Amino acid sequence: MRQKIVAGNWKMNKTEEEAQILTSEIMAMTGDEAGTSTTVILCVPFPFLGSLRNQVGNSPIKIGAQNCSEHQWGAYTGEVSAWMLKSMKIPYVILGHSERRQYFGEDGKLLAKKIDTSLAADLISIFCCGEPLSVREAGTHEQLVKQQVEEALFHLSAEQIKKVVVAYEPVWAIGTGKTATAQQAQDMHAVIRKHLASKYGGAVAEEISILYGGSVNAKNAQELFTCPDVDGGLVGGASLKSREFVDIVKAMK
Ligand code: PEP
Repeated sequence: MRQKIVAGNWKMNKTEEEAQILTSEIMAMTGDEAGTSTTVILCVPFPFLGSLRNQVGNSPIKIGAQNCSEHQWGAYTGEVSAWMLKSMKIPYVILGHSERRQYFGEDGKLLAKKIDTSLAADLISIFCCGEPLSVREAGTHEQLVKQQVEEALFHLSAEQIKKVVVAYEPVWAIGTGKTATAQQAQDMHAVIRKHLASKYGGAVAEEISILYGGSVNAKNAQELFTCPDVDGGLVGGASLKSREFVDIVKAMK
């Protein structure tokens, strides 16, 4: 059975002290909820990875990174290797977030390499895909998202793709307060799963978690999460508020 996941993407927010306070609040409020049937992941800025990993300790909450280099080691000033994350026992990394695509020029070719290094380092990638508003309006969103999935993932073996989580994040819904309707989310998730099935077979596609991201909040989470092909959420803004984030985790039940 595929894993239910709620992951917070803190982006470039919080001081170290604020990050520790937010983490303790989330830990206290989730109690036994996290880790039972839903995996809860906090994807935090690089400088906080070590201290927050120590803080969550053996609790059910996991810590993830928001990016990593396509290179293993070497003269790449300012970059962070998947192997460094592995050495720190950080199990998850977000790859291909639309902000990385938009502001840092990341494309499918580069993301395929990042996925490869992450897999080689035994990390689970949360691979983001999603269309901008102009593409949605032109009606070619399914085509674009299928292409994004193909470019970054279709070179993987069936065993490898099972270690990838896909996050569908329509760009027009990220940080805008404008969520996709449950129907829009379900439709695209079904398209993605069918596309994965066309390459890897239905049984493999059934095992891959597909998260929805884009202005998820405590009010809309439950409706989104009840869609049959929505296996959880990647949450930006609402993951910075402990009460809101924990209510989203609880909506996954
Ligand atoms: C995100 O950045 O991954 C995201 C979904 O952001 P928000 O929830 O703020 O739309």
